[in-house]
Amino acid sequence: MPGFIPGCFFSFTSESFNSFSKKRKLKLLIVEDEQGLRETIEKYFTEEGSICETCGNLETALQKIAIYEYDCIVLDIGLPDGDGFTILEYLKSNNKQDCVLIISARNSLDDKIRGLNIGADDYITKPFHLAELKARLLAIFRRKAFGSTNVLNYKEISIDLLGRNVNVNEKAIVLT
Ligand code: CA
Repeated sequence: MPGFIPGCFFSFTSESFNSFSKKRKLKLLIVEDEQGLRETIEKYFTEEGSICETCGNLETALQKIAIYEYDCIVLDIGLPDGDGFTILEYLKSNNKQDCVLIISARNSLDDKIRGLNIGADDYITKPFHLAELKARLLAIFRRKAFGSTNVLNYKEISIDLLGRNVNVNEKAIVLT
């Protein structure tokens, strides 16, 4: 496959969530107090090849994110013991890099702006289709993979996406 580097995000755009997720198992934390929805999301992404952890309240979520790192936290805003913004604030003040996708019953502009301003990567309003949630997660990972740098490095290979150069062991390779 052209442009494919094993174990690297570079292959991501041309692959399905499923095959990518199996190659490099995505670790998701699903924070949602509605048991039915939580289990549905968990089942869906487990079948897609991700590792899913779940919890239904703020306190457990904070304990988990303090100990573990997740590729993405799927975060409900309305939780029985507080709101999901607390998690975003915790991640921000502790410099944690976990992506966050907010799910909320409240289709409120203020909530969206607040969530995005304190570090959420995206926002989806209930009810939503699982396929849309998956597409939004994919978009987050794509942005994350390409957003922070134009240079991809894998072992001795370095690819400058903007400069359109490829170096191996710091020697330029002539490409057609
Ligand atoms: Ca809720």
